[in-house]
Amino acid sequence: MTRKLPLLVLLCTAWLGVASPASAQAQHAHVHGLIKLDIAVDGPSIVIAMESPLDNLVGFERAPRTDAERQTVENTVGTLRAADKLFDIDPAGNCKLGPVNLQSPALGLGQASAADAAGGGGAHADLDATFAFNCTNATAVKYIDVSLFTAFKGPRQIDVQIASPKGQFQRSLKRPNTRLAWGR
Ligand SMILES: [Zn+2]
Repeated sequence: MTRKLPLLVLLCTAWLGVASPASAQAQHAHVHGLIKLDIAVDGPSIVIAMESPLDNLVGFERAPRTDAERQTVENTVGTLRAADKLFDIDPAGNCKLGPVNLQSPALGLGQASAADAAGGGGAHADLDATFAFNCTNATAVKYIDVSLFTAFKGPRQIDVQIASPKGQFQRSLKRPNTRLAWGR
């Protein structure tokens, strides 16, 4: 009887593997080279939420250990805080950079949540960020030029979801493309 068990387990995992790779990826995507952006055009503001493996931005996924690594982290934080250079928004919106929030427990950025603290022993680490822009005409914005590929060597693809009064859009930018356009 016990002989049958491994086969059953094997079949189950095979079935799961075929049936749900997409949903598994969507739930916990940490793919080196990939950055995810969620862009919300809402009233007078555009908020860009970014989720990136730390490796994309600094080349490692732990606290910096050397002066060179500390310098890399410092440069990266500086680049991300100057987000109006990373995200060049269609001038039709007349947008100005507002608050930037960076979260990366591995780098000691932001406040570590209980979940982050619990999962802190893993081999991978992310940097999550939100970039808020205040606009006088946010709904007029039809494109954003994204400079993440020039600012950082790691990213190869940026998957984007845009929620705006004009609708929901999904876009994918691949190096070396930079223009994220939607609407009409
Ligand atoms: Zn990783």
